[in-house]
Amino acid sequence: MKRLTGLTMFFHSIRFRLVLWFTAILVLVLFTFSAFIYYNQARDFRGDAQYHLERKLEAIQAKVLGSMTGPVLLQESDIFVLLGPDGKVLASQGIASQEEIISLVKQAQTAQQRNIENPSESVVSWVQDWNGTSKHYSFAIKAVPVEGKIGFAILGSPFDPYDLNRRLLVTLLLGSLLTIAIALGGGLWLADRAMRPVHAITQAARTISETDLNRRLNMKGKDELAELSNTFDEMLARLQTAFERQRQFVADASHELRTPLTIVNLESSRALASKRTAPEYQRALGVIRSENEFMAHLVNDLLTLARMDSGQAAMEKTPLDLSDIALEAVERLAPLAERRNVRLETGDLPEVTILGDRRYLLQMMSNLVENGIKYTGGTERRVYVETGLQADSAWVRVSDTGPGIPPEHLPLLFERFYRVDKARARGDDDAQGGNGLGLSIVNWIVQAHNGEVRVESTPEAGTTFEVRFKAA
Ligand code: ADP
Repeated sequence: MKRLTGLTMFFHSIRFRLVLWFTAILVLVLFTFSAFIYYNQARDFRGDAQYHLERKLEAIQAKVLGSMTGPVLLQESDIFVLLGPDGKVLASQGIASQEEIISLVKQAQTAQQRNIENPSESVVSWVQDWNGTSKHYSFAIKAVPVEGKIGFAILGSPFDPYDLNRRLLVTLLLGSLLTIAIALGGGLWLADRAMRPVHAITQAARTISETDLNRRLNMKGKDELAELSNTFDEMLARLQTAFERQRQFVADASHELRTPLTIVNLESSRALASKRTAPEYQRALGVIRSENEFMAHLVNDLLTLARMDSGQAAMEKTPLDLSDIALEAVERLAPLAERRNVRLETGDLPEVTILGDRRYLLQMMSNLVENGIKYTGGTERRVYVETGLQADSAWVRVSDTGPGIPPEHLPLLFERFYRVDKARARGDDDAQGGNGLGLSIVNWIVQAHNGEVRVESTPEAGTTFEVRFKAA
């Protein structure tokens, strides 16, 4: 796999993408929020200015009507003109010439015309640049009764909505930028912290090889990453068990092959050491052949198990009669039974159809019957095979009159290379002693058919193996 480095790795990281998304959402929220504040605040600025102008105009009106005695508080920068009913200037402030008054009145008229839809408002206001100064002014005009007729008071105060708005915009912008910067930094830090266990897992996975599968992450906690790491640990444990079993298997297989190889070597060396008689050569060759048969059998079984382990054992399941298979196995092994002076008998063999692979089922049956023949004993020396149907399961039973199997061995019987009595298993002269693989092959075949194998044994009375399959 191509490894990403430095910046490329950072840009591809979940950490970066997470923070990027998070920041994008934050920018959107901040932008909407700021736009809302800006719009509302800009409206309020204008409203405030008008409100103050109106209050002052009301005070001026009160003053003109004589209901107010104190001075009207006008600022030095305020512009003010009071026009009598005939257009005469009765009072003014901040106005330099007649032209200025005329231009102001014109503006007031335009504003009043613009306000025609809202005639109820007694004060009409507008914003304009004031002559000579580059300052913005907010103006208002109000009808004022002078000597029983209508005059007008026009008042203007410096007002720069653009400046206020600009300041607000800058504040909002700076605030937003700062928030985004903090969010980015904090987000990266948090994401980095959250992703640290992932790095630990990656590092561990990189360093673990098949020789140190006993390493574990052992991460504490209850979050998703702890769960991931625990799952990883469990997987390692399973792998370790599988590897160890495999290693053991190879070691056992080599060990099993060593004995016959040594015997062959010894026998041939002894036969070749000096001139022997014909019967002596015959005996040596007999031993060599017997060991060779044992090895051939072992290699065959090992190959079968290896194929099963690697999933290469292809099953071709077809409907078939279990009794047919039992009978075939019995017929095949009849000569062996005869040689070993064992009565091989069959009981009820009704037709019981199951779905299975003929070749493998025959191998399973043969292994069980062969074991019966090999290990039977007592005065009867009998192996009995029968099949049957119970509810929806088909069963086959192989019983013998052998010495039985001590209960403590029963759970281990299907393990590879497991033999109850190693000496007895190899010591027989007629049939080859077992290699301890027969029952593990049986077990595998039964499992592959979703069946179940059970063993019952009474010491000094005999052993019964029972296999059950789902009837088709
Ligand atoms: P083997 O090739 O040694 O027979 P198996 O896997 O077939 O290997 O059997 C494992 C061991 O179980 C045998 O070595 C034997 O000790 C015991 N065993 C199997 N079948 C019987 C039986 N019918 N009666 C007594 N012992 C048995």
